[in-house]
Amino acid sequence: VVTKTTPHLAILPTPGMGHLIPLAELAKWLVAHHDFTLTFITLASSASKAQSAFLAALPPSISSVALPPVPLDDLPPDARVETIMSVSAARSVPALRDVLRDLQSSTNLVAFLTDLFGADTFDAPKQLGIPHYMFFPSNLLLLSLFFHLPTLDATTTCEYRDLPGPLELPGCVPVPGPDLLHPIQDRSNECYKWIVHHGRRYREAEGILVNTFDAIEPGAAKILREKEPGRPPVYPIGPLVQTGSPPGMDGSECLRWLDMQPHGSVLFVSFGSGGTLLRAQLVELALGLEMSGQRFLWVVRSPSDSGETSGSYFSAQSKGDPFAFLPEGFVSRTKDRGLVVPSWAPQVEVLAHGATAGFLMHCGWNSTLESVVNGVPMIAWPLYAEQRQNAVMLVEGVKAALRPKEGEDGLIGREEIARVAKELMEGEEGKRVRSRVKELQEAAIKGLQDDGLAYKTLTEVAQKWKGSNPV
Ligand code: UDP
Repeated sequence: VVTKTTPHLAILPTPGMGHLIPLAELAKWLVAHHDFTLTFITLASSASKAQSAFLAALPPSISSVALPPVPLDDLPPDARVETIMSVSAARSVPALRDVLRDLQSSTNLVAFLTDLFGADTFDAPKQLGIPHYMFFPSNLLLLSLFFHLPTLDATTTCEYRDLPGPLELPGCVPVPGPDLLHPIQDRSNECYKWIVHHGRRYREAEGILVNTFDAIEPGAAKILREKEPGRPPVYPIGPLVQTGSPPGMDGSECLRWLDMQPHGSVLFVSFGSGGTLLRAQLVELALGLEMSGQRFLWVVRSPSDSGETSGSYFSAQSKGDPFAFLPEGFVSRTKDRGLVVPSWAPQVEVLAHGATAGFLMHCGWNSTLESVVNGVPMIAWPLYAEQRQNAVMLVEGVKAALRPKEGEDGLIGREEIARVAKELMEGEEGKRVRSRVKELQEAAIKGLQDDGLAYKTLTEVAQKWKGSNPV
């Protein structure tokens, strides 16, 4: 029964299913364990069909409301997604304040939570005296970079790819400059300024919930779990991963095909909800998979000719027929051991399937967590966002993945792809990576069971929220 004492949480996600999915899992957990009710407040510019359908399918104690559109026509046509998200969030503050004020009078609103590029929305809850928190849908390595970025910005002038050595953040694996977060690689771009700005504003949060777990980045977890003056408390509360497929997506073909494959034999190949390859790279990947002799399930998307690797981020659907870009005869030559599907596969179910034994992936953080939770070792093939630094963490840090080498032309060649695929599925290095991932899987699962570390951390946050506005 919902009463005026039922704790209510308002959540403003910034666009992207990769942000929304873990937040929805958090919402469901708060409903199940602490009788919360919740409202998702979405930015109008992000109201994609997939997102609306996803929100509509959540349990009844989780409702949603869309903010009115804000003008964005003054942004240059080539503005990056991070800039668009940041500007949308900042300009939505007045409308957000109205929604929060309504929620304050109709519910027991205990806190406000936003994510990644939403720090400017803190202005609304601040004006209304509502505790305001950040949900970070990536890891502690990236959060440490956000915290450090204002200092790095003030003390260096070169592009980060030209830094004299790898960046060493407290407790984290050293990251070479070129592998750092993609949107900070051009300091003259508006987007860079936004990220530095967010790095500053994160410190205003009353707490930061991070969708990661201690065992996958132990050094950083140890440091960030300590209280530090001037830095909000950091709560590693993951891995919160998607349970089941989003509404309206039918993945039965993939699962039926997997049912017919031998146990532990299939390499799953997918680059997240928006990753695209260059045309020539797509061909190398096809021929590499063929050469490897391994069974594979490949989610293929039409290539981009511009070198933009996040081309379909907002649409998820492939542009045109991706099969048209595959090498001549590829599908028929590999039909006995490969399945190629366009645009989308039920990833969580695929990773949980007994036939799946490896994941060639783009190092998106949700995909990484889903792989680990299912004990599936990875091949790291980063494309954009923070994926290159995730790859460094997975390969050099926690040793849960293998990483193919790029050739001098910037492409990963077919021989290299075949070699790494074979190594992961059959080789000695593959065995080591596989057993490391099993250890992480165990830690991840234990952490979220009663009395596990992430469970306790999440409970601490929920208790704090419930106590923060006693009626
Ligand atoms: N996903 C899926 N099927 C696909 C591609 C992606 O179910 O074919 C889901 C995947 O399981 C994950 C999310 O979409 O939950 C992708 O998030 P991630 O952070 O890995 O990457 P992003 O798409 O944000 O780059």
